[in-house]
Formats: sequence, structure tokens, C-alpha cells
Amino acid sequence: MKVGIVGGGHNGLVLSGYLARDGFDVTVFEARERVGGLCITEEIFPGHQISTVASYYGMFRRQIIEDLKLDAHGLKPYLTDPAEIVLLPNNGYVFTPRDGSESKIAAGELSEDDRKGWIQFWTDMGKGAALIGPYYYQPKTTRQQLVDLLRENDLNVLADNLFDGSLFDVFDHYCKNPYLKAAAATCTPGFASNKGSVFGCMHHGTAETCGIEGAWGQVRGGMGKVSESIASSAQASGVKIKTGVKVSSINVVDGRARGVLLEDGSVEEFDIVVSNVDPYSTLKNLIPGVQLSDELNRQINSPMTQVSACKVHFLLKGLPTFPTLDSLNHNYAGIIVVAPPVDGVISDFKRVSNGQMPENLMMTMAFPTVTDDTVAPAGQHHMNIDIHTMPVTNNGEPWNESSKELIRAAVIAALKPFAPNIEEMIADTFIVTPEDLKTRYGASTAMCWHLPLTGEYVFEKRNLAGCEPYGSPVENLFLCGAGTFGGGNVTGIAGYNCAKVVKEKIGVRA
Ligand SMILES: Cc1cc2nc3c(=O)[nH]c(=O)nc-3n(C[C@H](O)[C@H](O)[C@H](O)COP(=O)(O)OP(=O)(O)OC[C@H]3O[C@@H](n4cnc5c(N)ncnc54)[C@H](O)[C@@H]3O)c2cc1C
Repeated sequence: MKVGIVGGGHNGLVLSGYLARDGFDVTVFEARERVGGLCITEEIFPGHQISTVASYYGMFRRQIIEDLKLDAHGLKPYLTDPAEIVLLPNNGYVFTPRDGSESKIAAGELSEDDRKGWIQFWTDMGKGAALIGPYYYQPKTTRQQLVDLLRENDLNVLADNLFDGSLFDVFDHYCKNPYLKAAAATCTPGFASNKGSVFGCMHHGTAETCGIEGAWGQVRGGMGKVSESIASSAQASGVKIKTGVKVSSINVVDGRARGVLLEDGSVEEFDIVVSNVDPYSTLKNLIPGVQLSDELNRQINSPMTQVSACKVHFLLKGLPTFPTLDSLNHNYAGIIVVAPPVDGVISDFKRVSNGQMPENLMMTMAFPTVTDDTVAPAGQHHMNIDIHTMPVTNNGEPWNESSKELIRAAVIAALKPFAPNIEEMIADTFIVTPEDLKTRYGASTAMCWHLPLTGEYVFEKRNLAGCEPYGSPVENLFLCGAGTFGGGNVTGIAGYNCAKVVKEKIGVRA
């Protein structure tokens, strides 16, 4: 049985590997010259291997590593020591060592209750994440089931707010310290003042790296090694991967997917087609002429949040100096987070939602060159910076080369209080805007997870109206990207679950 997969993101590759192991004849079509989508390593600066979009490893499921033998195909995740430091306004910080001992905290006037509340907040979040983790493998799971699950385990505040409250609402039950609240805000994508942000934090808590539950790390050689190792494993199982080949449309005859039309005008026939592209764009752009139900049309055309993210990479002349890090004898390894004040998070929510740049940049950054000698020539450094929130457009205009300058200047201004010599250490800059996510990386919605990760878009709400998880209104057309059940982040879950669904529908062996 022949399967064509549209898109060679890590999920499409995972799917291809599992189907090939069961004897399916699989071809992956990737529009770009290399596989990986948003999980990619690129030589942006000569000799420097940069994780241009996703930088941090943690959510990729161990089961997939084992099944597809990815370590034998070059996947080497590692833990940094320390794990993380969050830099707070007024020289504060939360410094998290890797050995699991208590964080070192400098956060204004810190009462004993705040300290206990902070620990309890993370204990409960971790417990919640451990409870919901297994349900990502059960695509019929509903949001209500998870709420009930948390309640049964005495996590009532989390249960009450999981999809309908904000992270800030939850935090107020644990702790009064505004600096710690600012630090907590960095754990969720988007805005912690926004409804649905509790789930975002817990989703990220389902991470596991090198056997440590809840831990995030990095990958030797950059995040592209995740995708490359899956591709290598899939090819060893017989998958054909065609890069630089864009699919123009999916051929649908009598309501059934029959193959793909490629950009060069050629047609390839398949029994099954699976799209790694987000579900809404798949329906809007790849199956022209297919009549959709009113409900589906409403769903895929309903207005979506305009909050995306942005990436800034600096080629460095040397490591910049962070006095707070030096005061802690920090080795510049691991994740460094800049947390804006709580008021700034709240005021930026409106700005960014209205298409304006945030005034208080929330940033996660790392110097992978400190811990991985394969990503740069000896003695050289680069720095990856995620800006957590950025409008999809710049005041209604697509981001372009000149508006990138605004982003560069804003990052330098936001970093200077923490690293006064940052500007003089920068040799070159590469910026990935929301517009680049669409045009360079093929993510049409400009969303990190193809669709948002807020309450209205997760679990049963992530399925297309009237369709089963991973299904579509077209027979034998399936979906496997981050915009499907369990998706978002480099987890491989959508590809893994979709392979099961395809096999169940079609019969296990090809
Ligand atoms: C700025 C940013 C930072 C992030 N950081 C992290 C992080 O640190 N850690 C983490 O776990 N996650 C992170 N994420 C999220 C994560 O990268 C994504 O959710 C995940 O990689 C999506 O994988 P995917 O395989 O579902 O889709 P994608 O990676 O989007 O793959 C889809 C593929 O389809 C291809 N394609 C599209 N249209 C066509 C067509 N017509 N024909 C052929 N091919 C086509 C695209 O080129 C692409 O390769 C980040 C995302 C962003 C945007």
C-alpha cells in the first residue's frame, strides 16, 4: 500500500518510519531542501550549526527513540548543568541547579510562605504533568477527563483553571511574591495573564530528557539532529524522502485521496495521503474543489490569535558578560531566561494581540557553544534567543528586513541591563520573524504549534469538526502535524499516534 506524506517535519518523518516498519511503501515530500521543518539545524554563520527555530529538547517521546533506534542514527540529547536561571527585574534571579536541590532565589522580600508556595506550585505542576502525560497517547481523551483526573488527585486549583483560567490566577493561590510570579510567567507560551495558559505550562512539564522526568536539555549538533536521525532511521526502513519538492495539491477523486500534484506539474499516485501541514491550511490550500461542511468552514476560518514568536541568533566575538551569572559562578551553560515584570506581561498582552511589538521582551536564551563542541569552530560562540511573544504582523504589515532592525534593537535594549557589553560582542545577526515561519519554514499559520495551545485548541478541540483525531473530511487523507491531537513542540506524538490510526483504518499490514 502506497502512502504519500506532505511535509518532512519531524512528525511526518516519525509517521513515515512507523509505517515503513509495517511494510507500507512510503514517500515523503518536503518543500525545503532539507527535512525538519521547525526542528532544524542550519549553517547560518560560516562553521556554526544553528538550531534556527526550535532550540530546546525535552518533549520528544522516549518510546519513539527506542522503537526507531534513533540513538543508532545519531540522536544525542544531553542535560546541561545548571538547568536554568531566570533573571528577574532589579537583579533578582531564580537559579535552578541540575542536581535537583532547591533553587537559589533572589526575589525582593521573599517570605517563608512565598518560598514554600513557589516549591508547592512546581510540585503540583509536575504532578499534573506526570498525570496527563500518558493521555497524549490516547487520542480520544477529552479536556473534561483531564480536569476530572486532576481533581481526583487533589489538584483542585489546577483542575479549576486548566483550560478556563490563567496561570496568574493559579499562581495567586500559591505565592504573593511578584518577582516569582514574573518567573512563573515564563513557563507558558503566550501570556500568563491569558485564559488557557495553565495548560501551556503543564504541557511543557511533560518533558523528559536522559531519563529525568520534567527535564529539558539540548541536542548535540543542534535540534536538526532529531529530524535527521528520524529521517535516517526511516530511510533505513525503505522510506523515500524527496526534498525540494513542494506539493501543490492533494488529488481527491470521489471523496477519496488518490495522490499528490507536485509543483512541477507531475502527479504521484497513492492509496493514502497524510499531511504534516497544519489542518486548517491543509483544508484551505491543499484540497481545492472539495466541498466542506458549514461547521468545518466556520472552524478553519474563525479568527485565530495573532500572537506568534520570534527567534534571534547572534554570532559572537566572545561570550558577553552577565554580572549576575558571574556572581553565582555560573558557567553560562543551560537555559537563561529574562522575565519581564508582571505588569509588563499584562500590558503587552493587549499590544501584541493588536499587532504591536511587545515593550517588555520575555526571552529564553542559550549559548550551545559552551556545552557542544560540534556546533562551532573551536573557541567561537553563538547565542540563540527566543522572544516568547511577537505579533504575526508588524502593525498589519508583514515583517521584513527593515522591521527586523526593530527586533534586533529591542533585544539589545532588553539584554543590556543583564549583559551590559552585549552589543559590542555581536558580530552578526540572524532573525526568524513570524513571517519567516510562514515563508522560509512552511508554517502557514506562523504558530509554533501550527495551532495555538490554549484551551480552545487542545485535546478534542484540536480535531477537525466532525472528524476523528488525525482524520479529515476526505477518505484516506490523514493529518499528522503539530496542529493535531497532542501536537505542538518536538514531541513526535502526532506522527506516532497517526501511524496507529492509519494502520487501524487500513489494516495493520500494508
Ligand atoms: C520560534 C519557535 C521556537 C520553538 N522552540 C521549540 C523548542 O525549543 N522546543 C520544542 O520542542 N519545540 C519548539 N517549537 C515548536 C516546534 O518546533 C514545532 O511545534 C514542531 O517542530 C512542529 O513539527 P511538525 O513536524 O508538526 O511540523 P513542521 O516542523 O512545521 O513541519 C512541516 C513541514 O511541512 C513542509 N511543508 C509545508 N507545506 C508543504 C508542501 N505544500 N509540500 C511539501 N512540504 C510542505 C514544511 O516545509 C515543513 O518542513 C518552537 C517553534 C517556534 C516557531
